[in-house]
Amino acid sequence: MRAMILRQPGKYSSNASLLEVTDVAAPSAGDGELLVRVSVCAVCRTDLDVVEGRVVAPRYPVVPGHQVVGRVAGIGRGVTGFREGDRVGVAWINSADGTCRWCRAGTENLCPQFRSTGCDVDGGYAEYLVVPAAFAHAIPNELTDTEAAPLLCAGAIGWRSLRLTRLSDGERLGLSGFGSSAHLVLQMARLRYPASPIYVFARDEGERAFAMELGAMWAGNFTDVPPELLDAVIDTTPVWKPMVELLPKLAPGGRFVINAIRKSSTDQSELLRLDYATHLWMEREIKSVANVTREDVRQLLALAVETGLRPTVEVLPLERANEALARLSSGARMRGAMVLSVSQSAAQTTTSSLQ
Ligand SMILES: [Zn+2]
Ligand SMILES: [Zn+2]
Repeated sequence: MRAMILRQPGKYSSNASLLEVTDVAAPSAGDGELLVRVSVCAVCRTDLDVVEGRVVAPRYPVVPGHQVVGRVAGIGRGVTGFREGDRVGVAWINSADGTCRWCRAGTENLCPQFRSTGCDVDGGYAEYLVVPAAFAHAIPNELTDTEAAPLLCAGAIGWRSLRLTRLSDGERLGLSGFGSSAHLVLQMARLRYPASPIYVFARDEGERAFAMELGAMWAGNFTDVPPELLDAVIDTTPVWKPMVELLPKLAPGGRFVINAIRKSSTDQSELLRLDYATHLWMEREIKSVANVTREDVRQLLALAVETGLRPTVEVLPLERANEALARLSSGARMRGAMVLSVSQSAAQTTTSSLQ
């Protein structure tokens, strides 16, 4: 099969082709597993973290990609409930042990044995992948492949982040950064908390304009002062500066939720600016979001069917994965999510060019 493989992590600033197009042996479904023929795979910032080495894979080469939509092409022993040709999604959660105290408490995202798609095991930047059947998601008919893919991580972890803010309808929500996850969170928040105004912080003018198109009350740069203090902020940026800039803009009791698997080490000195009185006093909270549960994914897919929530996508062929990731790496303007088209027959090929 054709795959984009990562032999060794590196930096896009010094190597534009970290992922290599290669023909490798296709996997086969083991006991309890499904073999999936990949139609599309959406691009996540975490893929960039894997490729640039901020998130370390247990072995290389590895195939990244964890927002996969495809069709069942093989069924391992002991699997029930799936037939060949069924459309399934594969998300970041590839497996968890199901027995530890976090799994039993419904927080399998925190399982010490958590295994991730596209890092711990090979992911969807390839024509085929395998997944434990218990961790494959049925994709509702209402969603096309390209619409469903970004919902599997950008959407699902955005949904988890939104719930972790403990927002009440009418409370003021801030979004720090406006990429593929935030553009979905904005729409979810408008649907679930219609009385809550949304304030978006983004460096890029085009991203701020996109946020206003989607219904933000206000959009500004990180140093701009919103008209009101915020009750919660979801931060999707890979750096610390926005957190330091935005904590003073939280109201008493405000919650700051970080939806990012890694923060850059290069601006870590920003943290020295944290001052207890300015940034934390008055019961302001900081919390990270780790991984997703299967339930997060199910809820978000159901919400999309119920409400019409859809991502804005740009489709590129699999072979241009490096270009897509390099663009994320350079902080180039985003308008929603990028989706890689893997098997031409199955995916819509409304490929648009990168700017
Ligand atoms: Zn567990
Ligand atoms: Zn992701």
